[in-house]
Amino acid sequence: MDLIRIRNVDKKYKNGVTAIYDLNLAIEKGAFVFVIGGSGSGKSTLIKMLYREEKPTKGQIIVGGLDVAKLRNKKVYKLRRKLGIVFQDYRLLPKLTVYENVAFAMEVIGAKKNEIRRKVLKALEDVGLKNKVHNYPDQLSGGEQQRVAIARAIVNNPKLLLCDEPTGNLDPEKSMEIMRVLEEINKSRGTTIIMATHDKDIVNKMKKQVVTLKDGHLVDFKRKGTYKNEVV
Ligand code: ADP
Repeated sequence: MDLIRIRNVDKKYKNGVTAIYDLNLAIEKGAFVFVIGGSGSGKSTLIKMLYREEKPTKGQIIVGGLDVAKLRNKKVYKLRRKLGIVFQDYRLLPKLTVYENVAFAMEVIGAKKNEIRRKVLKALEDVGLKNKVHNYPDQLSGGEQQRVAIARAIVNNPKLLLCDEPTGNLDPEKSMEIMRVLEEINKSRGTTIIMATHDKDIVNKMKKQVVTLKDGHLVDFKRKGTYKNEVV
C-alpha cells in the first residue's frame, strides 16, 4: 500500500523559479526514503509540499488518503496529525524542559495527562533520553537536542516522519546516532520516514531507498541506493 502518491507535480515559486518539474513518485507505507541532491535541487520544496507548507503549482499529492493540495486551510490539521517533522535546527522551546517540549505536542491536541505521560516517556525512551527529562535544551548537546525533536515528532505516533537535513549540524558520530534512532523508529513503530540529506556517508551506510533530485528533476530512484558522485 502506498502512503504517498505524487503525480505530475510542478512547483514554481512566485519569483519565477521552478523548484520541481513533473515529479512522479509513490512511497509505500513503512518505507525509509532518502531524498538526495545538491543544494537547490528541490529537496526542501518536496518535503514542504508533503506537509502543505507549500502547494504544488500543478499535479496531485496524496498523503494517507488526503489530497494535500486541495485541502482547505481549515483542514490542514488533518494532514499535520498524520505526520511529524524534524528540522536541521531542532526548533525546541528554550524555556521548556525536555519532557515539556515533547508533551507540548500532545497538549495542543487535547490529550489526557496520563496518556501524555505514558507516550512522552515512551518517545523519550525510544530516542535514548529518558534520563534527561528535566533538562533544558541548552543543557544538551546538539545530538541530544535533535533526539528530543525526534521524540516530539513521533509522540503522537504519526504514520509519516519528515526530516529535512536532520544531521546537518552534527558531526559524523552524532549523525550516525540519529540515524540509528530513526532506523529503530522505522522498524519498531512502522513509521514511514522521508529524509532530505546531502550527507553521502549516511546514505551509503544505510542502504535505504534513494530518490535523487537534480535541478528539480527526479533523476534516479533506487531501492537500496547510494549517493552517486555526479549529484554532489
Ligand atoms: P534544496 O533543499 O535541495 O537545497 P530547495 O527546495 O530549498 O532545494 O530549493 C529549490 C529551488 O527553489 C532553489 O532554486 C531555491 O532558490 C528555490 N526556492 C526555494 N524556496 C523558495 C522560495 N520560498 N521562493 C522562491 N524560490 C525558492
